[in-house]
Amino acid sequence: LVRAVNVMKSFHGNEVLKGIDLTVRRGEVVCLLGPSGSGKTTFLRCINQLESIDGGRIWVDGELMGFRQDDRGQLHHLTDKQIAAQRREIGMVFQRFNLFPHKTALENVIEAPTQVKGVRKGVARARAQDLLASVGLADKSAAYPGALSGGQQQRVAIARALAMDPKLMLFDEPTSALDPELVGEVLRVMRELARTGMTMIVVTHEMEFAREVADHVVFMDAGVVCEEGPPEQVIAHPRNERTRAFLRRMR
Ligand code: ATP
Repeated sequence: LVRAVNVMKSFHGNEVLKGIDLTVRRGEVVCLLGPSGSGKTTFLRCINQLESIDGGRIWVDGELMGFRQDDRGQLHHLTDKQIAAQRREIGMVFQRFNLFPHKTALENVIEAPTQVKGVRKGVARARAQDLLASVGLADKSAAYPGALSGGQQQRVAIARALAMDPKLMLFDEPTSALDPELVGEVLRVMRELARTGMTMIVVTHEMEFAREVADHVVFMDAGVVCEEGPPEQVIAHPRNERTRAFLRRMR
């Protein structure tokens, strides 16, 4: 479902991604691990075109992201509107939940389907109720974000992303801003989502989650992929010295 080839990205001459390759099959969960500053967040943002790339190509579901290719093979940047259309197919959950504070949980979930896709309000509400129930928040639809715990807000954020029926879900350290006792409830929802067959790319420091849920683990450091493979290989028996050093620090 996702193919990234030789993705490069610099900020003001600072090379953050130095040729990243990644393949994610439909229904797979891929966990991206790596130290702070290794480029994990930037790579996720490149996949859904929140950042434009300086080199390489990214395809999602066969579609080249951010560019179109003409008959002679030349690449042309897509317009903002075309990029927005591509982005609509991809759900993203951030470290900070970014809910609209003056809207209820339900209103947060129906916002994009009604405003962007033109789904009728009644239809969107019914779907939102189902989604909130699926993240364990059936009784919180009328609550405002300020009245919810961080874990509950993050679960609303997941429901909100799912309301657009994404092909792919990107998670950027979804539990790292949470108090430790709230991490489990969010991971549980993600585990459940993985079980439904959703294709997911998850930046995380939760090794237990990566080990149990990931089909494939990618370890990044300094803008390159150092090591990748099944979790039992990368996490339990890392071959690369940088992966080993990182995992030692995580324990
Ligand atoms: P973390 O776990 O801390 O989020 P990360 O692996 O996700 O780290 P990135 O957030 O992708 O790393 O950052 C990689 C590098 O890119 C950092 O040095 C960061 O300062 C730089 N960077 C990221 N975004 C920008 C930006 N918009 N402008 C300039 N530099 C940026």
